[in-house]
Amino acid sequence: MKASQFLISTLKEAPADAEVVSHQLMTRAGMIKKLGAGIYNYMPMGLRVVRKVEAIVREEMNRAGAIELTMPVVQPAELWQETGRFDKMGPEMMRIRDRHGRDFVIQPTSEEVVTDIARQELRSYKQLPKNLYQIQTKFRDERRPRFGLMRGREFVMKDAYSFDRDQASAKASYQVMAAAYRRIFDRFGLTYRAVAADSGAIGGDLSEEFQVIAATGEDAIVYCPNSDYAANIEKAEALPPSQPRPAASQPLTQVPTPGKTTCADVAALLGVPLQQTVKSMVLATDQLNEQGEIVKSQVWLLLLRGDHEMNEIKVAKVPGLDQGFRFASTTEILEHFGCEPGYLGPLKLQKPVQLVVDREVAVLADWICGANVVDFHTSGVNWGRDLPEPALVMDLRNVVAGDPSPDGQGALAIERGIEVGHVFYLGTKYSKAMNASFLAEDGKPAFFEMGCYGIGITRLPAAAIEQNHDERGIIWPDAIAPFTVVLCPITPERFPAVKEAAETLYAQLLAEGIDVILDDRGERPGAMFADWELIGVPHRVTIGDRGLKEGLVEYQHRRDAAATKIATADVLAHLK
Ligand code: ATP
Ligand code: MG
Ligand code: MG
Ligand code: MG
Repeated sequence: MKASQFLISTLKEAPADAEVVSHQLMTRAGMIKKLGAGIYNYMPMGLRVVRKVEAIVREEMNRAGAIELTMPVVQPAELWQETGRFDKMGPEMMRIRDRHGRDFVIQPTSEEVVTDIARQELRSYKQLPKNLYQIQTKFRDERRPRFGLMRGREFVMKDAYSFDRDQASAKASYQVMAAAYRRIFDRFGLTYRAVAADSGAIGGDLSEEFQVIAATGEDAIVYCPNSDYAANIEKAEALPPSQPRPAASQPLTQVPTPGKTTCADVAALLGVPLQQTVKSMVLATDQLNEQGEIVKSQVWLLLLRGDHEMNEIKVAKVPGLDQGFRFASTTEILEHFGCEPGYLGPLKLQKPVQLVVDREVAVLADWICGANVVDFHTSGVNWGRDLPEPALVMDLRNVVAGDPSPDGQGALAIERGIEVGHVFYLGTKYSKAMNASFLAEDGKPAFFEMGCYGIGITRLPAAAIEQNHDERGIIWPDAIAPFTVVLCPITPERFPAVKEAAETLYAQLLAEGIDVILDDRGERPGAMFADWELIGVPHRVTIGDRGLKEGLVEYQHRRDAAATKIATADVLAHLK
């Protein structure tokens, strides 16, 4: 590619709404262009990165025996009604209506459609196992689209779905995918961790997230530095705490009086005015023994935001409740605890349950909290930002750094991660709901055992940048760089030899299949270097008149502090 023919549009300033470095740099490097909240143009430079991510994913999925297909972005509501998700999914799912008044869904994921295909096409156990995948646009009307491609509303996901004849075979298919994911993420050249994830209503251990380690990640990961133990903090709920919580947690631990915690207490604690606004939310819960006596009382902050209908609003995560959907309805929450809709009062907990308040909650404002006493609620609670001690929010987590690892291998550490992939054993949840069966070996119909496997194709570049950048710009790993090499001739218009050497080198690298761009725009050296450092091309070869006379050019890796002189004849060998 020649830069003069390409579209390069770098910016000095990042947009005001770009909170994280990947969003700032992708915009400044001309990779993405915002069209609306959470909706972006993938500009030519950015699309090259996305295509490289896709190519790696596609190659490894194919290698692992998965088969590619494409399912429609716009899907008839009927299928979603079969599983009940048309109603359950809440406002994150975008619904539209056609001219005949029929309902449609813009796919946030595709279990329904792929299960519909399977029930028609896979009739016999002899056709199993099968793994079908697509790389396709998704739409999720995220509560808070932000961070550019990291949490978009429209984004691209690779989603795969496995169909097996029985559990053992399904688990083997899951392991094939988990291994393929390791190969994929190794190839991206990023530091990542595979962590145990919450497997929701399905239960069991077969759910892992692939987290790119970065301080700005929205997820917290608990891991043991001495062993393989690693889990999303949502999953790590069951670990017994070993040490007193840090001082910031003190106010919370003072609150509960068994069965009597009110919003007045919480309001006092949080320093907000108490208002009687909402009637049906439980805040403090009691753990009862078989005789119905309170054995433990804890503050569960089921926080509701502004909406008094309380049908779709959530709060924080109750592990095991919502299969990874961050927002659930109060009805669902109550159902989870075995209560009738509209129930008020203490919850009977079968086992201790921890509520994890995540960062998303931590920076939201204007929540309404309710207590297990009718009419005691507080509104206008601001979490995190306006609290005198933002750490208060963190204290609701039940794992803190230093707690013992469940495998006994040492103390736990906590770091932040960006979820770029997720593998999940589904069992027969969807096949049963949609009556998707095949003829088993014994001649009887059996439901498919399923798994699903996602990768955030367009989130990945953002995660890569969070991990690899400096004050000058992006530093792409070779595997997903928009171009691997940039050739920078210095004032070629004055030195025909420079122009010629650059062209020759360009042709040579192209012939070797190296993804090279020749900067023939005629920019001044300072501006040219600044552009490529911002864009983050990992290898730069500078061709200048003086060096050329000695048969030398300059090579500089994006991470190098200075350039090295190398013989023009050695460039190719150097880049390989
Ligand atoms: P998150 O916890 O970040 O909301 P999720 O658990 O809802 O993600 P999954 O349903 O597991 O996401 O989807 C598979 C993958 O799709 C995720 O691992 C992530 O990489 C990507 N993804 C999900 N939501 C978004 C989004 N809003 N923007 C970009 N990528 C996303
Ligand atoms: Mg998640
Ligand atoms: Mg989500
Ligand atoms: Mg997930």
